Amino acid sequence: MASPEKPGLLYILGSARSGTTLCAMLASRVRGVFAAGELAGLQPDGDPAPCGCGAKLTQCALWSGVMDAWSRASGKSLAADYRWADARLGRQRQIPRAIMHAQLWGRPHPRWERVHVSLVRAVAEVAGADWIVDSSKSPVRALQLARSQRLRFKAVHVVRDPRGVGCSLMKDVAADPAAGVARPTDGVSAGRAARDWKRAHALATWAAGRLGAGATLRMRYETLLRRPNDAMRAIARHLGRDGAVEDDETSAWRRAHVASGNRMRMHPSTPVFQEDEWKGRLGRDDRIVIERSCKRAMQRLGYRPVGEG
Ligand SMILES: [Zn+2]
Repeated sequence: MASPEKPGLLYILGSARSGTTLCAMLASRVRGVFAAGELAGLQPDGDPAPCGCGAKLTQCALWSGVMDAWSRASGKSLAADYRWADARLGRQRQIPRAIMHAQLWGRPHPRWERVHVSLVRAVAEVAGADWIVDSSKSPVRALQLARSQRLRFKAVHVVRDPRGVGCSLMKDVAADPAAGVARPTDGVSAGRAARDWKRAHALATWAAGRLGAGATLRMRYETLLRRPNDAMRAIARHLGRDGAVEDDETSAWRRAHVASGNRMRMHPSTPVFQEDEWKGRLGRDDRIVIERSCKRAMQRLGYRPVGEG
C-alpha cells in the first residue's frame, strides 16, 4: 500500500489503567488504522519491552523497518535530538514551554517535530496505514502533535471510574518481559491512586479543551467493555470512516505488532476484567478515600459514589 501524503494520528488521552490500550486495539479494527502503542517512550535504539508479536523491536518484521525509516527521515542527529526533545519538551511540567512555543510559532518546536512527527510518519509508511494510534496519554505530547502541519490529528479521551483505576493502581505488578511487562511496579495507596487519577483526568480534560472543536471524542471505559462494537463505530465516525471492520491478512498482521502499552497487547483475545470488578476487591476504607477525593469529577462523569452508610 502506498504511504499517504499526510498520515493521520489518533491520540489517546486518559489516566493510567483506564483502558487506553483496549481503546487503541478497538480502534485498530477500523479499516486503515494501526495501533502503534505508546510512541512517546519509543527510543531510537529500540525499547526494552518486546513487540506484541514477542520479538525485540529491532528484530520484529514491522518495527525494524520503522526504526530504519525513522533514522533515515531524521538524519544522523536522531539520538541527540531525541534526548534534547525529551529533556526540553517531553515532561508534564514542560507544558507551559510547549504551549508558548506552539502559540508563538503555530507549530511544535522544529527539533521536537523532526524527532516525533518523523516517527509517526515512519510507522504509517511501514505499516501501510493512514491512521496511526498513539496511546501515550501525555497531554503535552498531544498538544504538540496536534499543531504539526505534517499530520492530521484527532484524539480520544478515555475515562474510567476512579474506583476501578484505583483498584488496579493499588496492585503490585511483577516484571515479566515475556508477557510484555518490562518493569515491575509497586502498588500505591488509595489516596495516591485518587490523586493520580484526578490530576490525569484534569490535565486530559484541559488538553482536550485546547485541541479545538470536534478534535476529541470522549469515551468511557465501561462502554469499551460493554459495547465494543458501538465504541469502534464511534471511533470510525470520529475519523471520518464508515466503521467498516478490517479482517484481511494485512490488518491481522498489523494487529500483532503493538509496540508498547499494557500486556493486553500480547494476548488480544484475552477477556478483559469486568467493569465493576472493583466492587468485590476494593476495601470499604479505600473506596471511601477514593470517593471523597474524586467526588466532583465522578459526579460530572456520572459515576455514583456508594457512600459511607
Ligand atoms: Zn512485532
